[in-house]
Amino acid sequence: MDNLKKLKDILVEFISVVSIHLPDDVYHSLEAMANKEDGRIGNELYGCIFDNLEKAKTLGRPLCQDTGVLQFFIKAGTKFPYLDELEETIIEATKEATEKTPLRHNVVECFTEENTGNNVGTRAPFIEWEIIPHSDELHIDLYLAGGGCSLPGRSKVLMPLEGYEGIVKYVFDTIVEWGVNACPPLVVGVGIGTCSATAALLSKKALLRPVGTHNPNPLAADMEKRMKKGLDKIGIGPLGLTGKESVQAVNIEYAAHHPATLGVGITVGCWATRRGAIDIRSDLSYDIPSHKEAR
Ligand code: SF4
Repeated sequence: MDNLKKLKDILVEFISVVSIHLPDDVYHSLEAMANKEDGRIGNELYGCIFDNLEKAKTLGRPLCQDTGVLQFFIKAGTKFPYLDELEETIIEATKEATEKTPLRHNVVECFTEENTGNNVGTRAPFIEWEIIPHSDELHIDLYLAGGGCSLPGRSKVLMPLEGYEGIVKYVFDTIVEWGVNACPPLVVGVGIGTCSATAALLSKKALLRPVGTHNPNPLAADMEKRMKKGLDKIGIGPLGLTGKESVQAVNIEYAAHHPATLGVGITVGCWATRRGAIDIRSDLSYDIPSHKEAR
């Protein structure tokens, strides 16, 4: 088989897997939260969530009607043999997965607001690249950005004296005001950097890190744990109808910043945080480490 067709077929399957199954870490985090929940409404809602997940699996259908806008975060080895054709292959795979899975038609062009009908448009799917020197492998994180869970996303640059307390206040204000729109329990990605743009991008990258892991910097990890504890005390619960916990995790990613500025970005994932990771080798053998148990 033509190798580019094989690569496209791998990506079509990967997109389908991510839209039908939760990644293992999110599934287990919801299980743990459901086990802790003791309210009648909370238990009913977690029951619906797991019933929904089982039906998606047995019927082979996307686990939410909002299959999102596809976003690819690529770590490309400089010696991976198909780099020149990769962007076009991703676009073709997106079109094909839209028909085959199927995915809802979620991409509308700016200004005309016309639906493109195939989840492809200007800079859609969104593709972000990192180069990995001396490697012949390809790693892709795929994130399906739903509408509701994208609503709380925001970023700003804090005034110099607001400090890390300002970051916590911004996150808490955002989740209190907008969190219920995003189908809790939420995964909260927080980015910190010089400007609003770097902070926003890092907040999305924070969402790509599995639930249950912590930033290797102990100070950032401590902030993650304390913010989760505080947000849980708000008691948003599953689907925002109150409960013991509000968030599955708070993940922080940061970049060293200008001393006069502290940019903060927030990106939120819903209970149905659909992301996947795939490793593709130069011989086109591959693994999907995010979904070892889910298929
Ligand atoms: S917020 Fe998540 S679970 Fe809710 S409708 Fe959107 S994609 Fe689906």
